[in-house]
Amino acid sequence: MIFSEVAARLGLDNTPGLTVAANLKLVAAFMEKIRTLLCDKSIVVHSGYRSVEVNQAVGGVATSAHCHGLACDFVCPAFGAPAEVALAILKSDIGYDQLILEYGWVHIGLAQEGLSFRREALTKRSPWAAYELGIRA
Ligand SMILES: [Zn+2]
Repeated sequence: MIFSEVAARLGLDNTPGLTVAANLKLVAAFMEKIRTLLCDKSIVVHSGYRSVEVNQAVGGVATSAHCHGLACDFVCPAFGAPAEVALAILKSDIGYDQLILEYGWVHIGLAQEGLSFRREALTKRSPWAAYELGIRA
């Protein structure tokens, strides 16, 4: 959840502090629920925690949940395409804050502990596209 190819390539520190590390444990436990939902198929994590510097380097939005260790970008090829994965999560009763079908992966974000979650579902078709409401395959 803390490995970053961009951080490694650019020599950026991507070591989380204690609060973020605790959040990452919540995300890891949450991803176990997702894996169960996806018929226990292997999940490939593309991005978990991103330090502010790493987030800027990958062009992430400044308010990104990744910077708080509360988000995970992933795919699950053995289950299906990202759209199929996002739709399975959407139809489940799993309590996420934000679910985004991105161009090639699924982003899932959790709320800070103790805060209520929005269960917001969005689609982003390209780095330049605006967010669309709902999961749109
Ligand atoms: Zn993300």
